Amino acid sequence: MTSAYEELIATTKETSTLRSAMSVLGWDQRTKMPPGGVEQRSNQLALLAKLTHERATDPRIGELLAQCEADKDLTADPHSDSAANIRELRRAYDRATKLPSDHVEENARTHAIAEHHWEEARAKKDFSLFEPWLEKNIGLARTTAGFYGWESDEEPWDALAEGYERGMRARQVDSVFVPLRDRLQALVSDLSSARKPSTSIHDITLPTDAQMSFVTKISEAIGFDFSRGRIDTTVHPFCSGFHPGDVRITTRFSDNKFFDSLAATMHETGHGIYEQGLLPAYNGTPLGRAVSLGIHESQSRMWENFVGRSRAFWTWCQPLVANDLGITASADDIYAGMNLVDPSFIRVEADEATYNLHIMVRFELERALMNGDLGAADVPHEWNRRYKEYLGVDVPDDALGCLQDVHWSGGSFGYFPTYTLGNIYAAQIFEKIREDIGDVDAQFERGDFGPLKGWLNENLHRHGGRYIPSELCERLTGKPLSADALLRHLEGKLRPLYGL
Ligand SMILES: [Zn+2]
Repeated sequence: MTSAYEELIATTKETSTLRSAMSVLGWDQRTKMPPGGVEQRSNQLALLAKLTHERATDPRIGELLAQCEADKDLTADPHSDSAANIRELRRAYDRATKLPSDHVEENARTHAIAEHHWEEARAKKDFSLFEPWLEKNIGLARTTAGFYGWESDEEPWDALAEGYERGMRARQVDSVFVPLRDRLQALVSDLSSARKPSTSIHDITLPTDAQMSFVTKISEAIGFDFSRGRIDTTVHPFCSGFHPGDVRITTRFSDNKFFDSLAATMHETGHGIYEQGLLPAYNGTPLGRAVSLGIHESQSRMWENFVGRSRAFWTWCQPLVANDLGITASADDIYAGMNLVDPSFIRVEADEATYNLHIMVRFELERALMNGDLGAADVPHEWNRRYKEYLGVDVPDDALGCLQDVHWSGGSFGYFPTYTLGNIYAAQIFEKIREDIGDVDAQFERGDFGPLKGWLNENLHRHGGRYIPSELCERLTGKPLSADALLRHLEGKLRPLYGL
């Protein structure tokens, strides 16, 4: 082990410790902080952001990386701890140093103003108020892509998406999404003309504290370790891992949407189990971090959809909701209610099948925006046209249409596909798990989630960032990423449920 490598890892761990302190402050801001704390909290976060950025772009890191890269002992085996850490730290350093600081500042300033105009435009259902700011954000994002650069067979979108899902390219996303879109459209169209299953679970009113104690019990039963984490309530649920020994998840409740809260809790629990499954020995280095947004999302979707919306899960859980909450619905009715397919305008309320069509609309548009094939002014028309074509719905106004998501107002282009990639990875990985751990349904029916969690800990979580996502997928499942498993899952579940 060379001293350059030791110095590189020591400084990386320190920067990472600063970042985890920022995460604690961010968690506190969203869960516990009184309104009067806003000003001092933003001072604290701004100072820590400045310190971490200075440390991450320090030329000394570049010198250390160059020395480490020249040392064959460290890099000969590409999957050794040192080679994987050096590769990932190089990537992070290059991305952090490629953007000139005046561009970073202009981005931050413009995004803050654009978000403000986006909020106003959404409240007034008036896209024209946001359009000039969207145009500015598109221009800035294209400039950012230019600073990062792309290969001759790539495109500007790729340079931005790299920040969210390493190695993912628009061309590959398209080759997975197009067949998925065609078959999902056909599925959704067939289901909409079939008889609707029971919706009896959608108007059960329950007090919040009873819901909280129940979802906490389920979170623990499926594998979240409360001696190394906690759960709180927020407006928008999230998961924040400071260390495998301290992982915070949040959820939300409304009086009459208990099953939505349970699904949201299982989703965040999936993120949390991943964070708790990272190895403490690697904490603060790329090997101790989740590999990508798409893989992270595969973990949340697996527990939310492949466990929490399964027939077997409800065989186990129905007596619990009956006993603890007095819910009288049968396991069949709950299973049906959790799996209703209902094409609508709003992504965050979408069901498991139509959700992916919402993402495809956004991916197609942002790819065209980044290529210069589309301008801000075209967005509402192109958005609404696709919603009609893919989901069969007429978007009534832009607040329920292209103004519904915060992402583009904050300059996040290239992010959306990670949600659907999460679903696709989850399906493909879950098929392999079914082959590997025996009768999954029998396990779920008796409330035994240990084999599933154990498989994920052993094969996925403990690797952190050792492999890039596409490589991890092939290692886990023996196949490149494809939408086939997700389609088998959705068609195999939904067609019988709808009597088709
Ligand atoms: Zn998530």
